[in-house]
Amino acid sequence: MVYLDYAATCPILPSVASAMAAAERKYFANASALHTPGHQAMNEIEDCREKLARMVGCEADEIIFTSGATESNNTVVRTFEGCEIETSPFEHHSVIEAAKKYRGEKLPKLYSYMLANNETGAILNLPHPEVSACHFSVNTDLFAAKNEWGKELATDRRSAYFHSDLTQALGKIPVNVKDLGLDYATFSAHKIGGPVGVGALYVRRGVPFCPLLIGGRQEGGRRGGTYNTIGIIGFGAALDEVERNGDIEEYNTRIRNMRDTLARMILKDIPGSSLNTDLMPGRSLPNILNVSFAAAEGESIQLYLDAEEIVVSTGSACAAGDIKPSHVLMALAGDAEVAHSSIRFSFGLANTMRDVEAVMRVLPGIIKKLQGVSTVAL
Ligand code: PMP
Repeated sequence: MVYLDYAATCPILPSVASAMAAAERKYFANASALHTPGHQAMNEIEDCREKLARMVGCEADEIIFTSGATESNNTVVRTFEGCEIETSPFEHHSVIEAAKKYRGEKLPKLYSYMLANNETGAILNLPHPEVSACHFSVNTDLFAAKNEWGKELATDRRSAYFHSDLTQALGKIPVNVKDLGLDYATFSAHKIGGPVGVGALYVRRGVPFCPLLIGGRQEGGRRGGTYNTIGIIGFGAALDEVERNGDIEEYNTRIRNMRDTLARMILKDIPGSSLNTDLMPGRSLPNILNVSFAAAEGESIQLYLDAEEIVVSTGSACAAGDIKPSHVLMALAGDAEVAHSSIRFSFGLANTMRDVEAVMRVLPGIIKKLQGVSTVAL
């Protein structure tokens, strides 16, 4: 199989799998318990917290472990229930749908802008300089809110707060939450070779916060639920791999080369192809390539490639038989045709140039066949 869907999820790295297998035997106790095995499990969790904090440039107590990026995004947006919430049109559904549900008229305002997009790989300019300039107090219910233990939720009172979904950026480009001027940031383990179902949320000290999951007092009362110790240890092992790869730019050169080679070959050999990813360094993540093929439908291309054991994803989501064009490509191209005819190739560590060659052995023929039966003019 040629797996080119790393942006959807990555295979668990071997070092992560062995760290988790060892942890299952050693750190199964409830990490909140006062007994020794509980303390030992908690120590492991704190190690992972410190590792992530170091990597993204914050303090360990500013990191909360969650079940993934969806929960992290929902938590931030829900904190601003009833307030103005502005997002980019390129956000993941876990931001867009939450914003639709919770936005209102009240001040202050939450800005949620991702750093790197999951569909096209585009690196976006965060509007943080203007946002972090707004340091004046406003009087709203949000600041009056106290948590269940009577503690005031926000000590840092501003008119605007800034969140960024860094899910796709972590491990691909350097991210430092302080340099980016962020109040909140989202991470997910399975995009860097860790397990699915574990993520993290950076919450700057003193900013408004409302727990999404209430119950036990885990994570300082900020996120209830028994610790997913094994998953968090897997996340930590995946962070070790990112760290071991040293200079992110150098580590990504190989992946960028494969991505750029595939892009060049597609443009050269496939009529009607156009890139939805800007290949200029600094403009996109090195691992994602999104391409549209005029007069060929993304789902059909995906299925034909699947039959050849080549795994990619499309720019449309098929929900209940209804094929909806991707909101990201619609915002980018404003054209449903472009969105419906798009394929995302996303690379990872295990890929080689042979995978690029395997794609190019079959893709031109598949596109030619589909364009031949299409009613849309090329
Ligand atoms: N945000 C972005 C940018 C993503 O790419 C994804 C995963 N597709 C998510 C959020 C959701 O991540 P998780 O599976 O960890 O909930």
